[in-house]
Amino acid sequence: MTVGTKSQYQQCIDRAQRMGGTTRVTELGDGSYRVVGSRADLYTVRVDAEGNYACTCPAGRHDTPCWHSAAAWLLRAAQSAAGIAPAEPRESDATLRARLLDESRERARHIDELDVPLADYFTTAA
Ligand SMILES: [Zn+2]
Repeated sequence: MTVGTKSQYQQCIDRAQRMGGTTRVTELGDGSYRVVGSRADLYTVRVDAEGNYACTCPAGRHDTPCWHSAAAWLLRAAQSAAGIAPAEPRESDATLRARLLDESRERARHIDELDVPLADYFTTAA
């Protein structure tokens, strides 16, 4: 998760606006955005369900605020101002992990509840 001071975020937003703002951002869906960097390099910004931004650029990989995330934020802010719901954010990794764990526990419980041994279940069900 990217952590910065208010003035760092403001600098990133200012830079994003100088760089062309939302014109550099392509929405990919699932809370992912492609941002064209200052040297035409492509970075991916992801927004999770908690509204945390992560960017694949060198700064973003060190959890430092960057203007790519700010540009994606500007797009989402513009969409929300225009009454367009931003793409549903993808589940955060922690949420996804917890859900998958619950689902696999649930499946394991169903297997435990079978009154015949699992091997018999497959042979008799066939
Ligand atoms: Zn970045």
